[in-house]
Amino acid sequence: MTVASDRPMDCDVLIIGGGPTGVTLAALLAKRGVSVIVAEKDTAIYPLPRAAHIDHEGMRILQEAGAADAVMATSRRAGRYEFRNARGRVLLCFTGADRTGPGGWSIANMIHQPSVEAALRHALLEQEHAELRSGWEILAFAEDGDGITARFATHEGERSIRALWLVGADGARSPVRKACGIAFEDLGFEEPWLVVDVLVDDPARLPSANLQICDPARPTTCVMMGEGRHRWEFMILPGETPDQISSDASVRRLLAPWQVEGAVRIERTAVYTFRARIARQWRKGRVLLAGDAAHQTPPFAGQGLCSGLRDAANLAWKLAAVTKGAAAETLLDTYQPERAPNLRATIDMAIMMGRMVCTTNRLSAGWRDMKFALARMLGKLPDGPPAYPPIGAGAILAGSTAAGRYFPQLVASDGSRLDDVLGPDARLITRDALGEGLLAPFAASLQEWLDHHAVDAVLVRPDRYVYGTGKAIAVQARWQATLGMPPLA
Ligand SMILES: Cc1cc2nc3c(=O)[nH]c(=O)nc-3n(C[C@H](O)[C@H](O)[C@H](O)COP(=O)(O)OP(=O)(O)OC[C@H]3O[C@@H](n4cnc5c(N)ncnc54)[C@H](O)[C@@H]3O)c2cc1C
Repeated sequence: MTVASDRPMDCDVLIIGGGPTGVTLAALLAKRGVSVIVAEKDTAIYPLPRAAHIDHEGMRILQEAGAADAVMATSRRAGRYEFRNARGRVLLCFTGADRTGPGGWSIANMIHQPSVEAALRHALLEQEHAELRSGWEILAFAEDGDGITARFATHEGERSIRALWLVGADGARSPVRKACGIAFEDLGFEEPWLVVDVLVDDPARLPSANLQICDPARPTTCVMMGEGRHRWEFMILPGETPDQISSDASVRRLLAPWQVEGAVRIERTAVYTFRARIARQWRKGRVLLAGDAAHQTPPFAGQGLCSGLRDAANLAWKLAAVTKGAAAETLLDTYQPERAPNLRATIDMAIMMGRMVCTTNRLSAGWRDMKFALARMLGKLPDGPPAYPPIGAGAILAGSTAAGRYFPQLVASDGSRLDDVLGPDARLITRDALGEGLLAPFAASLQEWLDHHAVDAVLVRPDRYVYGTGKAIAVQARWQATLGMPPLA
């Protein structure tokens, strides 16, 4: 039996980990008036690049967190993502990544992760309900009847924080996940790669598309990053050791075919093992997991950080509603059923891309090339950016048209974006109120959406997924029920 503590709460939500997932979640919670403390073990942002890509949906979440404009200022657009075989023939190509996606931002944005994290921390500073405590390393935590207390090692000695909820956004090695005894499900992908990040002095000598070189002799990735940076990744082959492959001479040899000597300077080399894993449980009592703490994907679809941002967007409004008494605690049980299938789809896509790239057997590679050439001839290859499935179960009005689908962020002719007028709460959009007030610049597109789905009203959740559609009063009533609340008077 757990016994309630007399100690007052220090905050509503305690987030462990000040990476992109934790800081985004903190900003989204604080914007909703939830008091939040982020405890981060390191004293500064991890300085080396990891993620290179954020999609349109991730940018939309950064917009709400207050960091999108700063991220756009240092990011670059890549119009093409090509998978080429050893002879340079294009096997698969995703185009249009520089166009505006359903999230209201460009589909593929090439970034420098430390700059994104700096923009997020800057945005967090503006929030009066949020605090980031750097140099606070979690040691242990214990749940009691109505809260959770965590102990930390800090430069001033041991300290503790008491909160209603604790979120482990503490990365792939997550001490929080381990302390909860939650295991990973291994989705069966494990490949060691050498990552070489460079500073660019002469951009004209570098590729302007993102490339996967599906050469069985050395599978290789070459992608843009944020302003002034580029990345190569080289698969480590059987018999090679991480030390051998990362030596200066080896890196020089690997880069030689790209003819970039004098055009780039190496910023760092690192060996990463790309993995695909998903936590079996995302909530245990008052503890929730988010970001890499809950899942890891190989980077071929550029979705690791993006998935953490989606977790943050999904959790923020639910935790806010629960802490404010506007929803029952059971709402939090919809987090994993909504997010885990999306993760499986993004991980499946990354594994599919990874297997295509990581083929080292020449015969299999030849067979793969033939299959892709045929599919290309028959017009059977995808071209646009990958689409992931809608929410199938959770806090949605199942059975109503478009329930669980992603609601697009419309961009008006003056460049203004829909979310800036929708605000942080759920929003009922009805046909008869389209021309009114701040929605007016988006009226024609909203009408088109309602016409396309042949509905009178849509209730858009705070994370911009469709709760449900139908008659306004009925949808509103069902929303209250989904939140576990009595009908509105
Ligand atoms: C080579 C490579 C390429 C990638 N490319 C992409 C890409 O193109 N697109 C993409 O979306 N993603 C990509 N990713 C993945 C992306 O970098 C991660 O998914 C992202 O950093 C996860 O963010 P997070 O906040 O969940 O975890 P992290 O960034 O790992 O942050 C966790 C934080 O928790 C802190 N912490 C850990 N333990 C404790 C403790 N005991 N107490 C307090 N704090 C603690 C850590 O110090 C850290 O700051 C790539 C990753 C790699 C390695």
